This record gives sequence, structure tokens and C-alpha cells, in this order.
Amino acid sequence: MPYLEEIYNIVVVGAGHAGCEAALACARLGLETIIFTVSVDSIALMPCNPNVGGSSKGHLVRELDALGGEMGKNIDRTFIQSKMLNESKGPAVHSLRAQADKQEYSRQMRKTLESTDKLTIRQAEVSEILVEDGKIQGVKTSSGAVYRAGAVILCTGTYLKARCIYGDVSNPTGPNGLQAANYLTDSLKANGIEMFRFKTGTPARVDGRSIDFSKMEEQLGDERVVPFSFSTDPESVQKEQVSCWLTYTNDETHRIIKSNLNRSPLFSGAIEGTGPRYCPSIEDKVVKFPDKNRHQVFVEPEGLYTNEMYLGGMSSSLPEDVQYAMYRTVPGLEKVRIVRNAYAIEYDCINSLQLKPTLEFKKIRGLFAGGQFNGSSGYEEAAVQGFMAGVNASMEILGRSQIVLDRSQAYIGVLIDDLVTKENHELQDDDLQSRVQASPAPG
Ligand SMILES: Cc1cc2nc3c(=O)[nH]c(=O)nc-3n(C[C@H](O)[C@H](O)[C@H](O)COP(=O)(O)OP(=O)(O)OC[C@H]3O[C@@H](n4cnc5c(N)ncnc54)[C@H](O)[C@@H]3O)c2cc1C
Repeated sequence: MPYLEEIYNIVVVGAGHAGCEAALACARLGLETIIFTVSVDSIALMPCNPNVGGSSKGHLVRELDALGGEMGKNIDRTFIQSKMLNESKGPAVHSLRAQADKQEYSRQMRKTLESTDKLTIRQAEVSEILVEDGKIQGVKTSSGAVYRAGAVILCTGTYLKARCIYGDVSNPTGPNGLQAANYLTDSLKANGIEMFRFKTGTPARVDGRSIDFSKMEEQLGDERVVPFSFSTDPESVQKEQVSCWLTYTNDETHRIIKSNLNRSPLFSGAIEGTGPRYCPSIEDKVVKFPDKNRHQVFVEPEGLYTNEMYLGGMSSSLPEDVQYAMYRTVPGLEKVRIVRNAYAIEYDCINSLQLKPTLEFKKIRGLFAGGQFNGSSGYEEAAVQGFMAGVNASMEILGRSQIVLDRSQAYIGVLIDDLVTKENHELQDDDLQSRVQASPAPG
């Protein structure tokens, strides 16, 4: 036998938020499971915002927790600030949101995976799915190793043929400079799977020492913290918290953005992908809402291990010099130093209409999908899909009935139903381009 060959019940491709929940669900249901990642150092990585929960997302995390998922427990272990949003409104819309220590979140999730029986972690790039007579047989890695399994769950997030872009700089990597996965798309297409090209973006991370916090509004955590997980002892989460900060863009920020839109890769056509829902860049917001003379900027710590701060609300793919200029117009950021530039990322994902409500592909028995790979966006959205895909793949192997949550039962049901029944490609960037062309930028 020339290459390594192993047999599992279930293969999970991807150890992001979807893959971790999928693999934990399968292993906890007693099935021999292997989870692949391009880097074990990036298990449950948060490549964008440093928080879990918020409006609707907080509900998803709590539903996931009630079903046996891990995200709620993990954020309870690793949060550095917690806040119940919408408290001035009725209890149905109260939404829990917690700032995470990013490294600790990732470390603790890895620890959980490593201490779960029947779960094997493997750093390798999956390059092919193996299908015979419409039924999944397993996967092959780029080294030629074959992993046979009764079910495969694809949770590849933003890594397939990924490209990170700002201005005229384009790097062929996944998030945070991690290796992209360049082969799997072709295998999926060869097996009749329709693929889309999507894009999303992230703001710059800046050095906290270069910020004048006295010009910003302090955002404190709740005095009495409510845990995410129903199984967390409420006393264990009462601890010292860090502050976040609120500031705003202004006319000068917007003038700089508008006058440099022609240098945006969105405008030049260097970015082809459309955006997943609800992830507008600051240039998108400025163009789409010309009547708004300011936008919120939430300045949030990335963790206790660093003084890097996240500039929530200011995602961008403008060139480096424009990023500096626009950020420095914001009160408190006049002398800001960037640690990591803002960038957009393009990646391959599927047309999720190819999935059943169980998240199994209609055409390939035993092949499931979860997370950003399904065209959604967000850690929480990814986690709940990964969990449901994991449960349903396990049910299939165990010969038991699969589980579909109804729209009337759970936010998870609404999310998945939308994904598998509604078109999921917004034309936000075409829209941005046409609006820019219709209104020439001021000098
Ligand atoms: C730049 C950027 C900006 C973002 N902005 C936002 C935002 O504003 N709002 C928001 O809600 N969300 C945002 N996100 C999305 C958020 O990061 C994702 O929704 C979330 O991480 C998706 O989780 P996932 O598990 O689906 O995928 P990911 O977290 O991307 O994890 C994918 C996993 O798959 C593995 N993998 C992929 N292909 C292979 C392969 N072939 N072989 C082996 N392993 C493989 C990777 O190693 C990784 O472990 C952003 C992401 C990025 C990168």
C-alpha cells in the first residue's frame, strides 16, 4: 500500500467554529471521528471580531448550548467582558454578548477537542472527496493519504482558494496569513457541486498604546454577568472585566473614503466575490448611506495577552496609506499605529440550495456541510450549522432519524431554512460599484 490509509466513522474537514462543533457532536455520540485543519494552532480561530453573541447571535449560542454544543461553555471560560444588550426592550430581545480573549478561546477549544474520546485531530490539507455511486467514501489529503468514512462534513470556512486583498496588494493566503486550501474546490466541482466566490472583510488591528481613550466613550461590562451556558455556575463568571470604547467617524473620514474609492479593489474589479450577509465595509456604508454623517466605531481589546485593539465597524480593503488617513480622522485615533492592516478576503463556498434541511448534499449521500462554506457569515452561525451537520451525519451512520429544527422552534431552524431554500448571494459590491460610478468622488 503506497500511501497511508485509515478508517473512521466520520471525517470533519475544518477546525473552525463549525468544524469543532461538528466533530465534538459526532465523537460525543460515540462515533470515531477525525478533524482536519490546515493548522492545529488555529483551532477555533477568531479571524475577525473578538466577541461571541449579540443580537440574534446570542440566541443562537444559547440554543446551541441547550442542544449540547460547546461555544457557550467556551466563551464562559474565556470572556473578558460581558454585556446583556437591548435591556431597555422586552426580554425576548435581550441578547448576551461577550468579548473573548481570542487566544484563550482558541486554546480552550483545542483542549476540549484533545480531551474528547474518539476524536482525532490531524493537521493536513484535504484535497479530494472520494465518491462512488452517489455515496461518500472518504477524503484524500494533499500528501496522498486516504481517510475512509461513512460520512464527511465540510466546514472549510474562508480557506478555499483564499486571497487576502487591500489596495493593490493581494496575498494568496487564508486569514491571518494561514495557508489557503487550493485543491478541494476542483474535486467538489468534478463531483457536480456548484461553487460561488464570496468575500468578506475585517478592520485594522491597532496598538492600544497609540489610542487616546479620553476622547472616547467607555463601555463597561455588566455588574452582574449572566453566563452563556445553562451549565455554567453563575458565580464562576463574576470577575474583573476590561473596558471597550466607542467613538465615531465624521465628515472628514467620509471625504477621505469617497475620494479614494477608485483605489478600492472593489471598484477596480480586483475583488470578484459578492459579500455574505451583514458584513458591510466602511466604504460600503459611506456610499450606501450618504445621509449619515457618522458611523459608530467600537474599539475592542483582542485579549489580555496583547494591547492590539479591534476597530469594530471599520472593515476596509482600501490601500494602506488611505487606511492610516481615514483611521486618524476618528476622535481618539489621531496618532493611531496599525499593527495589522484591514483587508478583504475572497474564498470559494457552495450554493447552499444544494443542501437538504439536514445539511446533507442532495446529490451525494453522506456528504454534509456547515459554516461559512455554506455561504453564511459569523462564528455563531457557523457553530450551529456545524453542530446540526454533526448530529445528522451521526444519525445517518447510526441508522436513526435525522433532526431538523423548524422555523417556529428555533433561530437555528430559521437560519438553516433560509440557507437551504433562499438565494444567498447579495449583490452588495456590484451595487457599491454602480453607485460609485453614478456619483463621481469629490476631490
Ligand atoms: C477577514 C475575515 C473577516 C470576517 N468578517 C466577519 C464579520 O465581519 N462578521 C462575521 O460575523 N464574521 C466574519 N468573518 C467570518 C468568521 O470568521 C467566520 O464566519 C467563521 O470563522 C466561520 O467559521 P467556520 O468554521 O465556518 O470557518 P473558519 O473559521 O474559516 O474555519 C475553517 C477551517 O477549515 C480548515 N480548512 C479549510 N479547508 C481545509 C482543507 N481543504 N483541509 C483541511 N482543513 C481545511 C481551516 O484550517 C479552518 O480550521 C470574517 C472572516 C474573515 C477571515
